[in-house]
Amino acid sequence: MKKRKANILQNYCVACGCCLKACPKDAISITNGIYAVVDKNKCIGCRLCEKACPASIIGMEEIS
Ligand code: SF4
Ligand code: SF4
Repeated sequence: MKKRKANILQNYCVACGCCLKACPKDAISITNGIYAVVDKNKCIGCRLCEKACPASIIGMEEIS
């Protein structure tokens, strides 16, 4: 069964932290204050971060 996971276009991330606050699983962190990173093991694919990102740079990828 395929699972959905958040994927961030890190080159465009402004490290605003909106996705961190929106995530119910604490699956996103900011690396070196530069860009957001998703812990795929924690992510449940709920898409709340996608909706919260003001830069619209979060999408979903399907993982088998
Ligand atoms: S899809 Fe949901 S669980 Fe996954 S990183 Fe985004 S807010 Fe967190
Ligand atoms: S909400 Fe978007 S721009 Fe802000 S830290 Fe998250 S991915 Fe980066």
